[in-house]
Amino acid sequence: MIELPTNATEEQIGAIAHDWIRSNLPEQWREAAEARDWAAVEKLRADDSVCKPWFAALGDSGLATPTWPSEYGGLELSQDESAPIADALEHYRAGRGMDDFVGLALAGSTILAHGTTEQKTRFLRPLARAEYRWCQLFSEPGAGSDLAGLSTSAVRQEDGSWLINGQKVWNSYAHVSEFGLLMARTDPQSPKHKGITYFLLDMSLPGVEARPLRQMTGNAEFNEVFLTDVVVPADAVLGEVNGGWSVAITTLMAERSGLTGRPAVGEGVSDELISRARSNGAWDDPLLRDAILKLVVTERALQMTTMRSFAEVGPGGVGAEGSIRKLVNASIEEGFGTLAAEIDPQHALAWSDEQERRVSQDFLAMKTTSIAGGTTQIQKNIISERVLGLPRDVDPERGVPFNQRKRA
Ligand SMILES: Cc1cc2nc3c(=O)[nH]c(=O)nc-3n(C[C@H](O)[C@H](O)[C@H](O)COP(=O)(O)OP(=O)(O)OC[C@H]3O[C@@H](n4cnc5c(N)ncnc54)[C@H](O)[C@@H]3O)c2cc1C
Repeated sequence: MIELPTNATEEQIGAIAHDWIRSNLPEQWREAAEARDWAAVEKLRADDSVCKPWFAALGDSGLATPTWPSEYGGLELSQDESAPIADALEHYRAGRGMDDFVGLALAGSTILAHGTTEQKTRFLRPLARAEYRWCQLFSEPGAGSDLAGLSTSAVRQEDGSWLINGQKVWNSYAHVSEFGLLMARTDPQSPKHKGITYFLLDMSLPGVEARPLRQMTGNAEFNEVFLTDVVVPADAVLGEVNGGWSVAITTLMAERSGLTGRPAVGEGVSDELISRARSNGAWDDPLLRDAILKLVVTERALQMTTMRSFAEVGPGGVGAEGSIRKLVNASIEEGFGTLAAEIDPQHALAWSDEQERRVSQDFLAMKTTSIAGGTTQIQKNIISERVLGLPRDVDPERGVPFNQRKRA
């Protein structure tokens, strides 16, 4: 664990993080990052023999989980104090990737908030060290935006274990995950938000089957997950039985807050467009330059808003505040995908290697943030109700037991 001086300033924290990363990052990675050779860095990031020991060391240093308590591998910093660490990691592209987002950002914060001491001891250190991958088993074919309408069932057995049956969908990295965050209905006689329980599911249990779904990008990182007579032990319940909705709120807030771009002020995705445009001559086009710079301004404003919200309202932020940030980030991602193709139209259509293929990937994946973690329309609903004070969506069946509802 790295040592921070008492009452360290943000400058000191940033300098210590930079020094530690520079001295401990595998040499090839450090050299590639210092030369801004991101293609070489990406190759190293894809190599488990390089990544695994690096992420384990990063976890042991406390820099992967700076806001966690020290007993579970953290540095006990606030979100805004830890921003310079995010900056230092970004400088070397040395932080954990999106394939680890569910584990580090969602499972970590939810277990910290709701876990028993045994669950925290069992899961948090391995999470900090990237020992296991986690997936989120929330969405179902009939429950996405209306998540509380989920129908996967968990029935308590005489020995206290649970029998789980149902189907989940759009579960990122479920096919390569060791654990899943699962929501299931445990009391169909209660109103829909009340009879749900949250489980920490061991994905190797018999009856758990993840089937990858191929997307238009050509990648297949998300899945449908079938749960057939899966027997889950009693200690897999996170929080209270039938109290899963409030546990899920912690996950959803962390997700919303985590899908808002870089949690520090500095180079972001829009700066990547500048370097692409400069390298192929597209920068000479004044209209394109204007569009890129508008995106840079929006991204910097979002980064500053994120920092202000960390300082004022804490990590997860209030729901509506996270919704505003996510809404803006979704628009930045769409702008990035569109401009990536305009800067380099020929590689949006045809490519000869992975490096060139990223243009079509950026273009085809541009809607990700406007859907994942709650759609843009749902964020607008939240903002209109909680910020603007407009009337709530009417649910004529409010309070009706789930199994008597006529609609989900
Ligand atoms: C890249 C990606 C990764 C994902 N990863 C995961 C994952 O790991 N785990 C997981 O569980 N899920 C995951 N999801 C699923 C995601 O959470 C859902 O797709 C999302 O919540 C929307 O649900 P839905 O697809 O069922 O659409 P629906 O809820 O059916 O919505 C369809 C359309 O109707 C609109 N709509 C619905 N209700 C309202 C309303 N009340 N007011 C206004 N408009 C409304 C929506 O905005 C949308 O445009 C992922 C999705 C994506 C795109």
